[in-house]
Formats: sequence, C-alpha cells, structure tokens
Amino acid sequence: MFNYLGKVDVAVNYTDEQICTQLYDTPSRHHGAVSPPIYQTSLFAFETFEAFTEAQSAERENYVYTRGGNPTTEILEQKLAMLERGERCKCFGSGMGAISSVFLSLLQKGDHVLLVNNIYGPTQQLMKHLENFGIEHSYTENDVEAAIRPNTKLIYVESPGTMLMKVVDLMKVTALAMRHGIYTAIDNTWSTPIFQKPLTLGFDLSVHSLTKYIGGHSDIVGGAVIGSSKLIDRIFTYGYQLNGSVLSPHDASQVIKGLRTLPLRMKQHESNASQIIDFLQSRDEIKVIHHPSLQDRDITENQMSGFSGLLSFELKEGRFDHVASFINELNVFKIGVSWGGYESLVNSPVKRSNASELIKQGIDPGLIRLSIGLENPDDLIADLKNAFRASELIKP
Ligand SMILES: *Cc1c(COP(=O)(O)O)cnc(C)c1O
Repeated sequence: MFNYLGKVDVAVNYTDEQICTQLYDTPSRHHGAVSPPIYQTSLFAFETFEAFTEAQSAERENYVYTRGGNPTTEILEQKLAMLERGERCKCFGSGMGAISSVFLSLLQKGDHVLLVNNIYGPTQQLMKHLENFGIEHSYTENDVEAAIRPNTKLIYVESPGTMLMKVVDLMKVTALAMRHGIYTAIDNTWSTPIFQKPLTLGFDLSVHSLTKYIGGHSDIVGGAVIGSSKLIDRIFTYGYQLNGSVLSPHDASQVIKGLRTLPLRMKQHESNASQIIDFLQSRDEIKVIHHPSLQDRDITENQMSGFSGLLSFELKEGRFDHVASFINELNVFKIGVSWGGYESLVNSPVKRSNASELIKQGIDPGLIRLSIGLENPDDLIADLKNAFRASELIKP
C-alpha cells in the first residue's frame, strides 16, 4: 500500500526558499529523481483485494484514484501547506474550484457569509447563486463587528482586495471571529504565502488561485486551500471529491516548477512595481494610484512582508475612449485577463456604457489595472511613457 506523506509539522521552521526548492521532493520515494515524476495515472492498482478494500476505506490517506490523492499533486500540497504554515493543503483544478469547495464544505441552508472588502467578481456571483440553496451573504468594508449576524458562519476576506488593492486589518477580523465562534477564510492570491501568511494571523483557511503568481508562467489554471487537518479533511470529502475540481498531475508538476522560483520572482515583481509606481506618481494625467505600498503602514507592517506587482490607477480623464486609447498604445503590456505571470498585462473594468454602474461599485470610470511582470522596468516605463504621449492626442 502507498500511504500519503501525511500532515506537515508546522512546528518546524523552514525558510520559504528551502520549502520551494527542496522540501517534500522526497527523491528516495522516486528512484532518486530530483525533479518529482509526473504520476499521470487515474487509478492505483493493488496486489490483493484486502489491501484494496483497506485503502478504499481511508481514501484520505491512500492513493486510490486521482480524484482523491496523487503523489505528484501531493508534493505540491505539502509545499503549499508548509509555506502557509497550515497542516494540510488540497489542490484544485482552478481558484474557483478551491473557493467553491470552502463554501460547499462549511455551509448549510440558513447560514450567513460575511464578505469583507472588494471581492473577486466570480466569487460574488457564486455567493449570489448560493442564495438559491438558502445561504445568505452580505458585504462590509470596515465595520465588521456591526455586520455580524446571529447566523454568520463564515467571514470571507480578500486582502488586498480586487481592483482597488485595499488592505484589511486581518488580526482585527480574526480576533472578532474567534470571539463570535465564526470560521474565517481569506483569498491570499494577491500576496502569495511569500508576502503574507494569514494562518499565522489567526485565519482558519487560506485560499489561492495557483493560476497567478504561484504558477507564475501563465500556462496552467489551478487552485488551493490550506488549513488545519480537520478542516481540509472535510473539504476533501465534500468540496473536493464530490465537486470534482481536480488539478491534473501534469499541471501540479508545472506548479511545483513555478514554486522553485517563487521567492525570487516575487522579489523582482516587487522591485519592478515599485519603480513603475515611482514613475506613475510623476505623471499629472493620473488622479490616484492603488497599491498596498501606498496605504496605512501601521496595518501592512503587521501582516505583510512585501508587495506584489498588481496595481491600478485612475486617469483624470475617466472616459471609455481615453482608457481605450491609452491601453491600445501599450506594446510591452499585453491586453488580457488574469495576472501574476512573467508577462506584464493591462486590463480595465471600463466598458463603453458602464460608467454609472462602476461608480455605484466604488470604481472610478478611469480605472486601469496593471500586472507588472518580470521585464526590464526601463522597457515598461518607456512603454507607459509612449502610451501617455500618444493618448494625449485624443483629448477634445
Ligand atoms: C483569478 C482569481 C481567482 C480565481 O482563480 P481561477 O484560477 O481563475 O479560478 C480567485 N481570486 C482572485 C483574487 C483571483 O485573482
């Protein structure tokens, strides 16, 4: 029988670099291979029927079927668990697979979810859909305590938040939740575990889209949830095995490769973004820049050890034509969804006729989002300079 590696020992301290480069690679289990093999198999065969039935009765601990456990995926899960200082991790076929598994596993009819800060759009759509199953939700920006209801089961936070990158005081949230006996989960995609470890701040669960920085090469879609053994086991049974959002072993191997350079890449994203922000601050076409490095240090210093490269800014001239012409003039920045890859990207929620809708959501109709990649920052600045110059021309 082939047992799982088991839960990670969070009491032992490893550096992030150690975890990303070597820990849990377990060459001794794989003929000495330094690069873990891809177990591209759907099922695992057994020597005897007795061994098979025994393994099947504890699928959480044994390799039986890849919509359960897989040795390649498990190496990734162990690394992510240790990076976040959680006992266990489960990986998913997408970030949304991971997020929906949390809701499906922890909630029942009659429960309320409190969503704190600007939340990723599809997560909001999912909450809306769950109303059909008797699960309520509401949003709050700052006064979390006042927004708690008697049936609040889960506080779900995104920090830094979507689009405006606003930071929430995380320890204030977890202290409150603990007092009220409420589960807490956070979407930690923006920071990655390199820059923020929410479980050490009291969160029960940390959720990721592996598609962004952790994968880092814009070549896979994946997700992960990290937390205590008890909670992840529950998520394994309901939100994972039954919902079936499986990360393929091949993609898991790509993410392991992404992790090798994650600490290095995050340093470079941070340094590049800081240079771009300096440049943007010198431009009088811009009203405001949104990035956690420009926010209240009293909060960020307590919970973040660095800042990634996703930022947004507001053009003074907030109209579709102006936003479109600026974006169209960029060449190094590619136009597209997603972020966190090696390549710089530009995007905007502004459409030809949604200005009033955006304002209602607190989003400026001149908002442009940049994902700062790993290019030479001088090339990125030259590209932005050119776009400012060229888009000047369309002013009335
Ligand atoms: C992309 C993203 C997700 C969803 O991840 P997918 O891998 O696309 O399913 C969730 N949260 C945040 C903050 C994201 O940026």
